[in-house]
Amino acid sequence: MTITTLSRKNIQALTPYQSARRLGGKGDVWLNANEYPLSPGLNLQQRQFNRYPEAQPEKLVNAYAAYAGVAPENVLVTRGGDEGIELIIRAFCEADDQVLYCPPTYGMYAVSAETCGITAKTVPLTADFQLDLANIANNLAKVKVIFVCSPNNPTGNLLRRADLIQLLEMTKNRAIVVVDEAYIEFCPESTMVQMLTNYPHLAIIRTLSKAFALAGLRCGFTLANQELIGVLQKVIAPYPIPVPVSDLATQALSEQGLSEMQNNVAQVKAQRQWLIEQLQRLPQVEDIFPSEANYILVKFKNGNDIFKSLWEQGIILRNQNNALGLENCIRITVGTAEENLRVVEAISSQK
Ligand SMILES: *Cc1c(COP(=O)(O)O)cnc(C)c1O
Repeated sequence: MTITTLSRKNIQALTPYQSARRLGGKGDVWLNANEYPLSPGLNLQQRQFNRYPEAQPEKLVNAYAAYAGVAPENVLVTRGGDEGIELIIRAFCEADDQVLYCPPTYGMYAVSAETCGITAKTVPLTADFQLDLANIANNLAKVKVIFVCSPNNPTGNLLRRADLIQLLEMTKNRAIVVVDEAYIEFCPESTMVQMLTNYPHLAIIRTLSKAFALAGLRCGFTLANQELIGVLQKVIAPYPIPVPVSDLATQALSEQGLSEMQNNVAQVKAQRQWLIEQLQRLPQVEDIFPSEANYILVKFKNGNDIFKSLWEQGIILRNQNNALGLENCIRITVGTAEENLRVVEAISSQK
């Protein structure tokens, strides 16, 4: 008996999430985790840390509800959007239930399912990265939770609203539909929030890690109807949100914080456009997929060589070569003007 063999079998078999940080690299240009390249200048206002925090910090819940256009009872604050993903699996899946997701997409749906010992079924996206609804409909048998991501990471496109509504219709009274809106600030008109009124089985994942430039804070939100939020509240840790986190997150949602975030979004969009125009001219580039988010997916003639060469030059991107259907593709986070220039120069000088 070793410690490892004492651990659960599915944990022994688990490949942990290959986070950008975990993959390492020695760089001065980090464009592999879809972070915002600059930090907001927030300062702690709370000075009292001897008491446990509120289970769900009221000011933060109210601020996010106002920002998202929902009532406070529709909001659960979590440790990053990632915690919301896992809470939903833990709260809704019995041992022989399944989750379903649509690759190529965010890796945490699979990792969270595996961690919980829940079988994950996949129904690949279509060639234009949309939902294959017929195939999903044929695979719902044991499925309790369905994860979809819009804008989708790593492809950058939105899922069609009509398809999401059809998905919600076909899953009524049988499964939870999770719409991951981690990047929705870059296309706010595409949110599914209004659909909460009609669909008690809809859960929306949000985060401060991307457009709000606060990945270091670890603060996310799940938006859903009160009954679903109530179920998640039963399984979340008793004091999940540290006082400094709710303090800073509440500031980020103030009028000034929101206007800074909107500036971030405008900067990213302008830089994204510049990056696309520059890359389009390069013979190394085969295709650039349209993006509604703060990253672009680029197909190269030889993606592995480009990735490796830039890695060695200290420019760290996210290789997608092993993702389903994304051979030779690299995901590039939109950085500062200087960082984006470095990327373009490094790629253009590559044989
Ligand atoms: C970044 C991201 C999240 C959540 O990240 P957190 O830092 O845990 O809030 C969720 N979904 C997708 C698709 C993401 O890219």
